[in-house]
Amino acid sequence: MNSIAQNLKHIENTLPSGVTLVAISKTKPIPNLMEAYNAGQRIFGENKIQEMTQKWEEMPKDILWHMIGHVQTNKVKYMAPYVDTIHAVDSLKLLKEINKQALKHNRKINCLLQIKIAEEESKFGLSENDAIDLLKSEEVQKLRNVKIKGLMGMATFTDDSNQIKNEFDKIQVLFKQLKTTFTEFDTLSIGMSGDYKIAMDCGSTMVRIGSSIFGARNYSI
Ligand SMILES: *Cc1c(COP(=O)(O)O)cnc(C)c1O
Repeated sequence: MNSIAQNLKHIENTLPSGVTLVAISKTKPIPNLMEAYNAGQRIFGENKIQEMTQKWEEMPKDILWHMIGHVQTNKVKYMAPYVDTIHAVDSLKLLKEINKQALKHNRKINCLLQIKIAEEESKFGLSENDAIDLLKSEEVQKLRNVKIKGLMGMATFTDDSNQIKNEFDKIQVLFKQLKTTFTEFDTLSIGMSGDYKIAMDCGSTMVRIGSSIFGARNYSI
């Protein structure tokens, strides 16, 4: 088996410049993350606030922490002191809470709107129209402590690469459309271990890769 550092190097070599790699370290122990850190990785993604906060407390402070999981409004306060980017914003209520908590710490938190592109019912996210309405709403314009930098999406979990490509194309079209109005838009977060090569063909600027760096996750322990 390859080392974490070797996996990281291999993936970095396949990414075009301008594509940011978020190393998804959920469920993995700190020594694994430190191996990636020592190989130069500085952006890590987690999907549970408690786990991310513990890792933030114990690890070097030049790491940028990305929350990639679904966020409950009442949990925002726990990550507001340090989180760099929240990927799965899907309501005005959540956006307002992030703004309120960021203001308490005199910070600006980067946010991505999660768009529902997969067929599967279980996937979270806004419809394209709801995302457009949200961005255009007066209330959102007033939020000074969040910066909405772009969109995030997850394709259907399938072997059918045409379906994945169609889903990524949908979000790419929306991203390009919104970029013309919202000049702060620079991030399209699509692509995971199984589909990041397709995502790059569809204009991804940020990939979220876990198992191809750290190995398969074991949720039973
Ligand atoms: C776990 C997760 C990833 C990474 O998945 P891998 O298949 O391990 O690369 C990416 N994005 C989200 C939202 C995730 O929950």
